[in-house]
Amino acid sequence: MRLSQLFTKTSKTISEETESINARLLTRAGFIKQEIAGVYNYLPLGLRVLNKIENIVREEMNTVGVELLLPTLTSQERWRDTGRLESVDVLFEARGANDPSREKNDATYIVNPTHEDVITPIMKDFIASYKDLPRAVYQIQTKFRNEPRAKSGVLRGREFRMKDLYSFHKDEADLKRFYEAMKPVYTRVYERLGLGDDTFLCLASGGDFTDDYSHEYQVVLPAGEDTIYLDRANKIAYNKEVATPEDAAKLGVNFDTLEEVRASEAGNIFPLGTKYSKSLSLEYTDEQNQRHLVWMGSYGIGTSRLMGIIAEKFADDKGLVWPESVAPYRYHLVALGSGEAQHAATKLYEELGAEQVLFDDRSDVSAGQKFGDAELIGCPIRLVVSDKTLERGIVEVVSRSGSFDQIEMELSHAKEKLAELNA
Ligand code: ATP
Ligand code: MG
Repeated sequence: MRLSQLFTKTSKTISEETESINARLLTRAGFIKQEIAGVYNYLPLGLRVLNKIENIVREEMNTVGVELLLPTLTSQERWRDTGRLESVDVLFEARGANDPSREKNDATYIVNPTHEDVITPIMKDFIASYKDLPRAVYQIQTKFRNEPRAKSGVLRGREFRMKDLYSFHKDEADLKRFYEAMKPVYTRVYERLGLGDDTFLCLASGGDFTDDYSHEYQVVLPAGEDTIYLDRANKIAYNKEVATPEDAAKLGVNFDTLEEVRASEAGNIFPLGTKYSKSLSLEYTDEQNQRHLVWMGSYGIGTSRLMGIIAEKFADDKGLVWPESVAPYRYHLVALGSGEAQHAATKLYEELGAEQVLFDDRSDVSAGQKFGDAELIGCPIRLVVSDKTLERGIVEVVSRSGSFDQIEMELSHAKEKLAELNA
Protein backbone atom coordinates (compact mmCIF):
# COMPACT_ATOMS: atom_id res chain seq x y z
CA MET A 1 0.00 0.00 0.00
CA ARG A 2 1.29 3.42 -0.93
CA LEU A 3 0.95 5.97 1.86
CA SER A 4 0.09 8.58 -0.78
CA GLN A 5 -3.02 6.50 -1.53
CA LEU A 6 -4.03 5.85 2.08
CA PHE A 7 -6.62 8.41 3.06
CA THR A 8 -5.87 8.22 6.79
CA LYS A 9 -3.26 10.48 8.37
CA THR A 10 -1.38 10.28 11.61
CA SER A 11 -1.99 12.99 14.18
CA LYS A 12 0.27 14.34 16.90
CA THR A 13 -2.45 15.07 19.36
CA ILE A 14 -5.90 13.84 20.07
CA SER A 15 -8.36 14.85 22.71
CA GLU A 16 -7.00 14.48 26.23
CA GLU A 17 -10.36 13.03 27.20
CA THR A 18 -9.24 9.75 25.67
CA GLU A 19 -7.88 8.19 28.82
CA SER A 20 -7.06 4.79 27.37
CA ILE A 21 -3.60 4.14 25.96
CA ASN A 22 -4.79 1.78 23.21
CA ALA A 23 -7.43 4.23 21.96
CA ARG A 24 -4.98 7.13 22.02
CA LEU A 25 -2.26 5.30 20.08
CA LEU A 26 -4.55 3.54 17.62
CA THR A 27 -6.36 6.82 16.93
CA ARG A 28 -3.17 8.87 16.51
CA ALA A 29 -1.76 6.26 14.12
CA GLY A 30 -4.98 6.23 12.07
CA PHE A 31 -6.09 2.64 12.85
CA ILE A 32 -9.42 3.47 14.47
CA LYS A 33 -11.76 6.40 14.97
CA GLN A 34 -14.29 6.63 17.75
CA GLU A 35 -17.91 6.85 16.64
CA ILE A 36 -19.60 7.11 20.05
CA ALA A 37 -18.48 5.90 23.49
CA GLY A 38 -17.51 2.24 23.15
CA VAL A 39 -18.03 2.14 19.37
CA TYR A 40 -15.19 2.44 16.86
CA ASN A 41 -14.67 2.71 13.14
CA TYR A 42 -11.94 0.37 11.92
CA LEU A 43 -9.92 2.29 9.33
CA PRO A 44 -7.80 0.43 6.73
CA LEU A 45 -4.73 -0.18 8.94
CA GLY A 46 -6.89 -1.20 11.89
CA LEU A 47 -8.96 -3.53 9.78
CA ARG A 48 -5.82 -5.26 8.52
CA VAL A 49 -4.71 -5.96 12.09
CA LEU A 50 -8.18 -7.14 13.12
CA ASN A 51 -8.39 -9.42 10.07
CA LYS A 52 -5.00 -10.92 10.84
CA ILE A 53 -5.99 -11.62 14.43
CA GLU A 54 -9.29 -13.14 13.31
CA ASN A 55 -7.64 -15.28 10.65
CA ILE A 56 -5.26 -16.78 13.21
CA VAL A 57 -8.24 -17.50 15.46
CA ARG A 58 -10.12 -18.96 12.47
CA GLU A 59 -7.28 -21.27 11.45
CA GLU A 60 -7.01 -22.67 14.96
CA MET A 61 -10.79 -23.03 15.42
CA ASN A 62 -11.03 -24.90 12.12
CA THR A 63 -9.01 -27.69 13.77
CA VAL A 64 -11.88 -28.36 16.20
CA GLY A 65 -15.09 -26.95 14.70
CA VAL A 66 -16.88 -25.57 11.66
CA GLU A 67 -17.62 -21.91 10.96
CA LEU A 68 -21.05 -20.38 10.50
CA LEU A 69 -22.54 -16.91 10.88
CA LEU A 70 -25.49 -16.18 13.14
CA PRO A 71 -27.59 -13.03 12.97
CA THR A 72 -27.12 -9.84 14.91
CA LEU A 73 -30.87 -9.38 15.38
CA THR A 74 -33.21 -11.88 16.94
CA SER A 75 -36.65 -11.91 18.51
CA GLN A 76 -37.27 -11.17 22.18
CA GLU A 77 -38.76 -14.67 22.42
CA ARG A 78 -35.38 -16.33 22.16
CA TRP A 79 -34.17 -14.44 25.20
CA ARG A 80 -37.40 -14.83 27.12
CA ASP A 81 -37.28 -18.62 26.72
CA THR A 82 -33.96 -18.84 28.54
CA GLY A 83 -34.92 -16.30 31.19
CA ARG A 84 -32.12 -14.06 30.05
CA LEU A 85 -34.34 -11.21 28.87
CA GLU A 86 -34.47 -10.22 32.54
CA SER A 87 -31.15 -11.51 33.83
CA VAL A 88 -28.70 -10.08 31.28
CA ASP A 89 -28.35 -6.41 32.10
CA VAL A 90 -26.32 -5.39 29.05
CA LEU A 91 -28.96 -6.33 26.44
CA PHE A 92 -29.61 -3.84 23.66
CA GLU A 93 -33.00 -3.90 22.00
CA ALA A 94 -33.93 -2.51 18.59
CA ARG A 95 -37.20 -1.53 16.98
CA GLY A 96 -38.22 0.03 13.73
CA ALA A 97 -37.90 3.76 14.28
CA ASN A 98 -40.97 4.43 12.15
CA ASP A 99 -42.86 1.24 12.92
CA PRO A 100 -46.46 2.18 13.85
CA SER A 101 -46.59 -0.78 16.25
CA ARG A 102 -43.46 0.25 18.10
CA GLU A 103 -45.23 0.52 21.41
CA LYS A 104 -45.88 -3.20 21.29
CA ASN A 105 -43.36 -5.74 22.55
CA ASP A 106 -43.64 -7.93 19.47
CA ALA A 107 -42.07 -5.24 17.36
CA THR A 108 -38.91 -5.31 19.45
CA TYR A 109 -35.73 -7.19 18.59
CA ILE A 110 -32.74 -8.12 20.64
CA VAL A 111 -29.33 -7.09 19.31
CA ASN A 112 -27.36 -10.16 20.28
CA PRO A 113 -24.63 -9.81 22.91
CA THR A 114 -23.73 -13.54 22.61
CA HIS A 115 -25.41 -16.52 20.94
CA GLU A 116 -26.15 -19.44 23.27
CA ASP A 117 -29.83 -18.50 23.08
CA VAL A 118 -29.73 -18.48 19.27
CA ILE A 119 -27.55 -21.49 18.47
CA THR A 120 -29.32 -23.94 20.79
CA PRO A 121 -32.71 -23.84 18.98
CA ILE A 122 -30.89 -24.11 15.64
CA MET A 123 -29.12 -27.28 16.71
CA LYS A 124 -32.51 -28.81 17.60
CA ASP A 125 -33.05 -29.15 13.85
CA PHE A 126 -29.85 -31.11 13.39
CA ILE A 127 -29.21 -33.13 16.54
CA ALA A 128 -31.60 -36.04 16.87
CA SER A 129 -29.60 -39.04 18.00
CA TYR A 130 -26.30 -39.97 19.62
CA LYS A 131 -24.95 -40.31 16.07
CA ASP A 132 -25.22 -36.54 15.65
CA LEU A 133 -22.87 -35.89 18.60
CA PRO A 134 -20.41 -34.40 19.37
CA ARG A 135 -20.61 -31.19 17.38
CA ALA A 136 -18.69 -27.89 17.52
CA VAL A 137 -19.61 -24.73 15.62
CA TYR A 138 -18.19 -21.24 15.79
CA GLN A 139 -18.48 -17.77 14.34
CA ILE A 140 -16.48 -14.56 14.34
CA GLN A 141 -18.91 -11.72 14.61
CA THR A 142 -19.84 -8.32 15.96
CA LYS A 143 -21.52 -8.34 19.38
CA PHE A 144 -23.45 -5.59 21.13
CA ARG A 145 -23.54 -4.97 24.86
CA ASN A 146 -24.74 -1.95 26.74
CA GLU A 147 -21.61 -1.89 28.89
CA PRO A 148 -22.03 0.70 31.64
CA ARG A 149 -18.36 1.65 31.57
CA ALA A 150 -16.88 1.84 28.09
CA LYS A 151 -13.78 3.92 28.67
CA SER A 152 -10.99 1.48 27.88
CA GLY A 153 -10.87 1.99 24.12
CA VAL A 154 -11.26 -1.25 22.21
CA LEU A 155 -10.65 -3.28 25.40
CA ARG A 156 -14.32 -2.79 26.30
CA GLY A 157 -16.67 -1.86 23.53
CA ARG A 158 -20.43 -1.52 23.31
CA GLU A 159 -19.98 -2.92 19.83
CA PHE A 160 -17.08 -5.35 19.58
CA ARG A 161 -15.78 -8.42 17.78
CA MET A 162 -15.80 -11.91 19.24
CA LYS A 163 -15.16 -15.48 18.25
CA ASP A 164 -17.71 -17.72 19.94
CA LEU A 165 -17.65 -21.48 19.67
CA TYR A 166 -20.35 -23.80 21.00
CA SER A 167 -19.91 -27.52 21.62
CA PHE A 168 -22.58 -30.22 22.00
CA HIS A 169 -22.06 -33.58 23.72
CA LYS A 170 -23.85 -36.73 24.76
CA ASP A 171 -22.69 -36.54 28.37
CA GLU A 172 -20.58 -34.73 30.90
CA ALA A 173 -17.52 -36.87 30.25
CA ASP A 174 -17.48 -36.01 26.56
CA LEU A 175 -17.92 -32.30 27.34
CA LYS A 176 -14.96 -32.50 29.74
CA ARG A 177 -12.86 -34.25 27.09
CA PHE A 178 -13.58 -31.51 24.56
CA TYR A 179 -13.12 -28.77 27.16
CA GLU A 180 -9.63 -30.08 27.92
CA ALA A 181 -8.85 -30.39 24.20
CA MET A 182 -9.68 -26.69 23.73
CA LYS A 183 -6.93 -25.58 26.11
CA PRO A 184 -3.98 -26.31 23.77
CA VAL A 185 -5.96 -24.80 20.86
CA TYR A 186 -6.34 -21.55 22.83
CA THR A 187 -2.69 -21.63 23.88
CA ARG A 188 -1.67 -21.81 20.22
CA VAL A 189 -3.82 -18.80 19.36
CA TYR A 190 -2.15 -16.60 22.01
CA GLU A 191 1.31 -17.88 21.06
CA ARG A 192 0.73 -17.02 17.42
CA LEU A 193 -0.45 -13.54 18.42
CA GLY A 194 2.86 -12.94 20.19
CA LEU A 195 1.22 -13.13 23.62
CA GLY A 196 2.45 -16.59 24.63
CA ASP A 197 4.65 -15.42 27.51
CA ASP A 198 2.06 -13.07 28.98
CA THR A 199 -1.13 -15.12 28.76
CA PHE A 200 -2.19 -17.23 31.72
CA LEU A 201 -4.86 -19.86 32.03
CA CYS A 202 -6.85 -18.50 34.92
CA LEU A 203 -9.32 -20.24 37.17
CA ALA A 204 -12.54 -18.28 37.38
CA SER A 205 -16.00 -18.74 38.81
CA GLY A 206 -19.14 -19.30 36.91
CA GLY A 207 -18.95 -22.80 35.53
CA ASP A 208 -22.44 -24.21 35.62
CA PHE A 209 -21.24 -27.49 37.10
CA THR A 210 -21.65 -27.52 40.83
CA ASP A 211 -18.37 -26.52 42.41
CA ASP A 212 -16.51 -26.50 39.20
CA TYR A 213 -14.64 -23.63 37.61
CA SER A 214 -14.57 -22.01 34.24
CA HIS A 215 -11.29 -20.78 32.78
CA GLU A 216 -10.25 -17.41 31.46
CA TYR A 217 -7.24 -16.56 29.34
CA GLN A 218 -5.80 -13.49 31.04
CA VAL A 219 -3.09 -11.31 29.53
CA VAL A 220 -1.02 -9.41 32.08
CA LEU A 221 -1.67 -5.72 31.37
CA PRO A 222 -1.75 -2.66 33.68
CA ALA A 223 -4.91 -1.34 31.95
CA GLY A 224 -6.68 -4.69 32.38
CA GLU A 225 -9.88 -4.65 34.41
CA ASP A 226 -9.25 -7.89 36.27
CA THR A 227 -7.03 -8.62 39.22
CA ILE A 228 -5.45 -12.05 39.13
CA TYR A 229 -3.05 -14.01 41.28
CA LEU A 230 -0.19 -15.44 39.26
CA ASP A 231 1.57 -18.71 39.87
CA ARG A 232 4.32 -18.06 37.31
CA ALA A 233 6.17 -21.30 37.88
CA ASN A 234 3.14 -23.41 37.02
CA LYS A 235 1.85 -20.90 34.44
CA ILE A 236 -1.59 -20.72 35.97
CA ALA A 237 -3.51 -17.91 37.62
CA TYR A 238 -6.54 -17.41 39.85
CA ASN A 239 -9.06 -14.66 39.38
CA LYS A 240 -9.34 -12.57 42.53
CA GLU A 241 -13.09 -13.18 42.42
CA VAL A 242 -12.59 -16.88 43.21
CA ALA A 243 -9.19 -17.27 44.80
CA THR A 244 -9.14 -17.63 48.56
CA PRO A 245 -6.32 -19.04 50.70
CA GLU A 246 -8.48 -22.16 51.18
CA ASP A 247 -8.93 -22.65 47.42
CA ALA A 248 -5.22 -22.19 46.92
CA ALA A 249 -4.45 -24.82 49.53
CA LYS A 250 -6.87 -27.23 47.86
CA LEU A 251 -5.04 -26.69 44.58
CA GLY A 252 -1.67 -27.24 46.19
CA VAL A 253 -0.36 -23.68 45.93
CA ASN A 254 0.83 -21.36 48.65
CA PHE A 255 -1.41 -18.28 48.53
CA ASP A 256 1.32 -16.04 49.98
CA THR A 257 3.72 -16.63 47.11
CA LEU A 258 1.20 -15.71 44.39
CA GLU A 259 1.85 -12.45 42.54
CA GLU A 260 -1.06 -9.99 42.32
CA VAL A 261 -1.26 -8.32 38.90
CA ARG A 262 -3.76 -6.57 36.62
CA ALA A 263 -4.83 -8.45 33.52
CA SER A 264 -7.25 -8.30 30.61
CA GLU A 265 -9.51 -11.24 29.78
CA ALA A 266 -8.67 -12.20 26.20
CA GLY A 267 -10.89 -15.27 26.11
CA ASN A 268 -12.64 -17.88 28.17
CA ILE A 269 -13.87 -21.44 28.09
CA PHE A 270 -17.07 -22.20 29.87
CA PRO A 271 -18.80 -25.49 30.68
CA LEU A 272 -22.50 -24.73 30.26
CA GLY A 273 -23.66 -28.20 31.26
CA THR A 274 -27.36 -28.62 30.44
CA LYS A 275 -28.46 -25.06 31.28
CA TYR A 276 -29.52 -24.12 27.74
CA SER A 277 -30.51 -27.57 26.52
CA LYS A 278 -32.89 -27.79 29.48
CA SER A 279 -34.57 -24.42 28.95
CA LEU A 280 -34.75 -24.87 25.16
CA SER A 281 -35.32 -28.67 25.12
CA LEU A 282 -32.32 -29.75 23.11
CA GLU A 283 -32.33 -33.54 23.47
CA TYR A 284 -31.03 -36.62 21.70
CA THR A 285 -31.94 -40.30 21.60
CA ASP A 286 -29.35 -42.85 22.76
CA GLU A 287 -28.73 -46.45 21.54
CA GLN A 288 -31.53 -47.72 23.80
CA ASN A 289 -33.97 -45.15 22.49
CA GLN A 290 -33.80 -43.15 25.71
CA ARG A 291 -34.03 -39.34 25.57
CA HIS A 292 -31.29 -37.20 27.18
CA LEU A 293 -30.37 -33.56 27.43
CA VAL A 294 -27.41 -32.47 25.33
CA TRP A 295 -24.38 -31.20 27.28
CA MET A 296 -22.91 -27.90 26.07
CA GLY A 297 -19.84 -25.73 26.37
CA SER A 298 -19.09 -22.21 25.11
CA TYR A 299 -15.70 -20.79 24.23
CA GLY A 300 -15.08 -17.09 23.55
CA ILE A 301 -12.18 -14.99 22.30
CA GLY A 302 -12.37 -11.19 22.18
CA THR A 303 -10.73 -10.38 18.85
CA SER A 304 -11.13 -6.58 18.94
CA ARG A 305 -10.11 -6.55 22.61
CA LEU A 306 -7.01 -8.49 21.55
CA MET A 307 -6.12 -5.73 19.12
CA GLY A 308 -6.17 -3.29 22.05
CA ILE A 309 -4.23 -5.66 24.30
CA ILE A 310 -1.50 -6.16 21.70
CA ALA A 311 -1.35 -2.44 20.92
CA GLU A 312 -1.00 -1.53 24.57
CA LYS A 313 1.27 -4.39 25.58
CA PHE A 314 4.07 -3.75 23.09
CA ALA A 315 3.85 0.02 22.57
CA ASP A 316 6.77 2.26 23.56
CA ASP A 317 7.09 6.02 23.89
CA LYS A 318 7.35 6.40 20.10
CA GLY A 319 4.21 4.48 19.20
CA LEU A 320 2.88 1.06 18.29
CA VAL A 321 5.08 -2.04 17.97
CA TRP A 322 3.23 -4.88 16.24
CA PRO A 323 4.27 -8.52 16.45
CA GLU A 324 4.89 -9.79 12.95
CA SER A 325 1.89 -12.10 12.86
CA VAL A 326 -0.63 -9.26 13.20
CA ALA A 327 1.25 -6.23 11.85
CA PRO A 328 -0.68 -4.35 9.16
CA TYR A 329 2.40 -4.73 6.94
CA ARG A 330 5.74 -6.45 7.55
CA TYR A 331 7.73 -3.56 6.07
CA HIS A 332 7.48 0.20 6.28
CA LEU A 333 9.50 1.47 3.33
CA VAL A 334 10.65 5.09 3.46
CA ALA A 335 11.82 6.76 0.27
CA LEU A 336 13.90 9.92 0.73
CA GLY A 337 15.37 12.32 -1.76
CA SER A 338 15.66 12.53 -5.51
CA GLY A 339 13.74 10.88 -8.31
CA GLU A 340 16.44 8.22 -8.49
CA ALA A 341 15.93 7.17 -4.87
CA GLN A 342 12.16 7.21 -5.42
CA HIS A 343 12.63 5.00 -8.43
CA ALA A 344 14.81 2.48 -6.55
CA ALA A 345 12.37 2.43 -3.65
CA THR A 346 9.45 1.84 -6.00
CA LYS A 347 11.33 -1.09 -7.52
CA LEU A 348 11.88 -2.60 -4.06
CA TYR A 349 8.21 -2.01 -3.20
CA GLU A 350 7.12 -3.89 -6.29
CA GLU A 351 9.56 -6.75 -5.61
CA LEU A 352 8.35 -7.20 -2.03
CA GLY A 353 4.71 -6.76 -2.98
CA ALA A 354 1.93 -4.38 -1.95
CA GLU A 355 0.58 -6.90 0.58
CA GLN A 356 3.84 -6.80 2.56
CA VAL A 357 4.84 -3.15 2.36
CA LEU A 358 3.51 0.17 3.53
CA PHE A 359 5.39 2.45 1.14
CA ASP A 360 5.94 6.05 2.22
CA ASP A 361 6.18 7.51 -1.27
CA ARG A 362 4.98 10.96 -0.24
CA SER A 363 7.04 13.75 -1.76
CA ASP A 364 5.78 16.66 0.32
CA VAL A 365 6.75 15.28 3.74
CA SER A 366 10.04 15.72 5.64
CA ALA A 367 12.35 12.83 6.51
CA GLY A 368 11.73 13.46 10.21
CA GLN A 369 7.99 13.21 9.76
CA LYS A 370 8.32 10.02 7.73
CA PHE A 371 10.45 8.37 10.44
CA GLY A 372 8.05 9.57 13.12
CA ASP A 373 5.09 8.05 11.26
CA ALA A 374 6.94 4.76 10.77
CA GLU A 375 7.54 4.56 14.52
CA LEU A 376 3.97 5.51 15.39
CA ILE A 377 2.40 2.99 12.98
CA GLY A 378 4.73 0.25 14.23
CA CYS A 379 5.37 -2.15 11.33
CA PRO A 380 8.11 -4.63 12.35
CA ILE A 381 10.80 -3.70 9.79
CA ARG A 382 11.64 -0.21 8.52
CA LEU A 383 13.47 0.07 5.20
CA VAL A 384 15.09 3.30 4.03
CA VAL A 385 16.17 4.07 0.48
CA SER A 386 17.75 7.53 0.08
CA ASP A 387 20.24 9.22 -2.22
CA LYS A 388 22.95 8.31 0.31
CA THR A 389 22.05 4.61 0.51
CA LEU A 390 21.64 4.46 -3.24
CA GLU A 391 25.20 5.69 -3.81
CA ARG A 392 26.34 2.52 -2.05
CA GLY A 393 23.66 0.31 -3.58
CA ILE A 394 22.16 -0.58 -0.20
CA VAL A 395 18.95 -0.35 1.80
CA GLU A 396 18.94 0.44 5.53
CA VAL A 397 17.02 -2.04 7.67
CA VAL A 398 15.80 -1.22 11.19
CA SER A 399 13.80 -3.37 13.61
CA ARG A 400 10.90 -1.54 15.27
CA SER A 401 11.06 -3.73 18.35
CA GLY A 402 14.85 -3.56 18.60
CA SER A 403 15.18 -7.29 18.01
CA PHE A 404 18.25 -6.58 15.85
CA ASP A 405 20.57 -3.60 15.35
CA GLN A 406 20.36 -1.46 12.24
CA ILE A 407 21.79 -3.36 9.28
CA GLU A 408 22.49 -2.70 5.62
CA MET A 409 21.60 -4.95 2.73
CA GLU A 410 22.59 -4.85 -0.89
CA LEU A 411 19.54 -3.64 -2.78
CA SER A 412 20.02 -6.31 -5.42
CA HIS A 413 19.67 -9.14 -2.86
CA ALA A 414 17.34 -7.41 -0.42
CA LYS A 415 14.29 -9.55 -1.12
CA GLU A 416 15.94 -12.88 -0.22
CA LYS A 417 17.90 -11.43 2.72
CA LEU A 418 14.79 -9.77 4.18
CA ALA A 419 12.82 -13.00 3.98
CA GLU A 420 15.39 -14.61 6.28
CA LEU A 421 15.06 -11.88 8.91
CA ASN A 422 13.32 -12.49 12.17
CA ALA A 423 11.57 -9.27 13.04
P1 ATP B 1 -15.79 -9.39 30.70
O1 ATP B 1 -15.69 -10.03 32.04
O2 ATP B 1 -14.52 -8.73 30.25
O3 ATP B 1 -16.98 -8.50 30.56
P2 ATP B 1 -17.27 -11.61 29.73
O4 ATP B 1 -17.08 -12.50 30.88
O5 ATP B 1 -18.51 -10.84 29.59
O6 ATP B 1 -16.00 -10.58 29.66
P3 ATP B 1 -17.81 -13.31 27.42
O7 ATP B 1 -19.20 -12.84 27.42
O8 ATP B 1 -17.59 -14.74 27.67
O9 ATP B 1 -16.91 -12.44 28.42
O10 ATP B 1 -17.07 -12.91 26.07
C1 ATP B 1 -15.98 -13.63 25.51
C2 ATP B 1 -14.78 -12.71 25.31
O11 ATP B 1 -15.18 -11.54 24.60
C3 ATP B 1 -14.18 -12.18 26.59
O12 ATP B 1 -13.25 -13.11 27.10
C4 ATP B 1 -13.52 -10.90 26.15
O13 ATP B 1 -12.24 -11.17 25.60
C5 ATP B 1 -14.42 -10.43 25.04
N1 ATP B 1 -15.33 -9.36 25.51
C6 ATP B 1 -16.36 -9.47 26.37
N2 ATP B 1 -17.00 -8.29 26.52
C7 ATP B 1 -16.32 -7.40 25.73
C8 ATP B 1 -16.49 -6.01 25.44
N3 ATP B 1 -17.47 -5.29 25.99
N4 ATP B 1 -15.62 -5.43 24.56
C9 ATP B 1 -14.63 -6.13 23.98
N5 ATP B 1 -14.44 -7.44 24.21
C10 ATP B 1 -15.27 -8.08 25.08
MG1 MG C 1 -18.93 -8.90 30.30
